[in-house]
Amino acid sequence: MCTVSPSSPSLLSPSFCCCSRMGIVSLNHLPTRTTFPPFVSSFALYPPKTLVTPVTHHPDSHHKCKRKKKKKLSVNAVLQWNRRPQYAGEPPRVVVVTSGKGGVGKTTTTANLSLSLARLQFNVVAIDADVGLRNLDLLLGLENRVNYTAVDVLQGECRLDQALISDKRWSNFHLLCISKPRFKIPITFGAKALVWLVDALKSRPEGCPDFVLIDCPAGIDAGFITAISPANEAILVTTPDITSLRDADRVTGLLECDGIKDIKMIVNRVRTDMIKGEDMMSVLDVQEMLGLGLLGVIPEDAEVIRSTNRGYPLVLNNPPTLAGLAFEQTAWRLVEQDSMQAVMVEEEPKKRGGFFSFFGG
Ligand code: ADP
Ligand code: MG
Repeated sequence: MCTVSPSSPSLLSPSFCCCSRMGIVSLNHLPTRTTFPPFVSSFALYPPKTLVTPVTHHPDSHHKCKRKKKKKLSVNAVLQWNRRPQYAGEPPRVVVVTSGKGGVGKTTTTANLSLSLARLQFNVVAIDADVGLRNLDLLLGLENRVNYTAVDVLQGECRLDQALISDKRWSNFHLLCISKPRFKIPITFGAKALVWLVDALKSRPEGCPDFVLIDCPAGIDAGFITAISPANEAILVTTPDITSLRDADRVTGLLECDGIKDIKMIVNRVRTDMIKGEDMMSVLDVQEMLGLGLLGVIPEDAEVIRSTNRGYPLVLNNPPTLAGLAFEQTAWRLVEQDSMQAVMVEEEPKKRGGFFSFFGG
């Protein structure tokens, strides 16, 4: 049940507006697709505190209803009410999350997208291919459960399913770490080994995963080459600053050389106040510079840091946060191989401010 009619035009035309150096920018879905998950828009229209279980006003039950305490709907319940996004492509979709530059949000993106996809009932395996600075397990709160790693599988010390760490919250989500922290990675571990592991995931008796998300290390050296080798899609995470963009551009070229044609970008840590003050590049500028399809725009949000420290991915927060909702939208587009487009709009929209202005709500 939802408190908002799905036929409401605002539910089907989510947009994100912000200023750019060239004017006001509105980020909309491409006109061909209007598959935005209704729950996101309902959040956008109704602040989370008003998300309550709808009360049926039966004449006899009127007094009872009045007395009933308002009960919060969990995000999960809202998700169950809504339809599932349509899976595009062939399983497994092996997606590498990369950037070139470090610290732009690859691991944050991998953790949040993985759990968003798992909540949408897809089978997901996240591989932490950042062997030097492994921290995906920390972000997911699974660090105490890593007993075996991919290296142990390759050395014959355990089976693959023993190295796949399952999440108590979502049994259809698994994490695979390459090695234990401070363990020397064998030199033999490279592109071939990772391709072998992904092939082994495909042929598990439990079934082939729908998504394999690979968290790539920073840089463009051996670790990067290894991480991208089994991928057939890439998500390029960038922040709207010139250093990150230069690295992203270089990485795009390398991905294309490797035969990965499906490359989309996520612009992370966007601050509309800075864009308005012309202190930050707009998303439109970023898209024009990189010439890639836009999978999502994630705002700068202190909740990201809080969730990182708690080992509890942002998308699980209830009530949802601004960046959490943006990750949910991004996961939705990833499933449907959809993208959004940054466009210029003529006039500045009426100032609404507040929590949901980011979504044009
Ligand atoms: P990478 O894997 O690219 O090195 P991380 O995902 O580890 O980057 O993120 C680096 C830091 O940036 C972390 O402390 C994380 O909490 C923070 N961060 C990432 N995205 C955001 C965001 N949208 N808002 C605020 N902080 C963010
Ligand atoms: Mg990382």
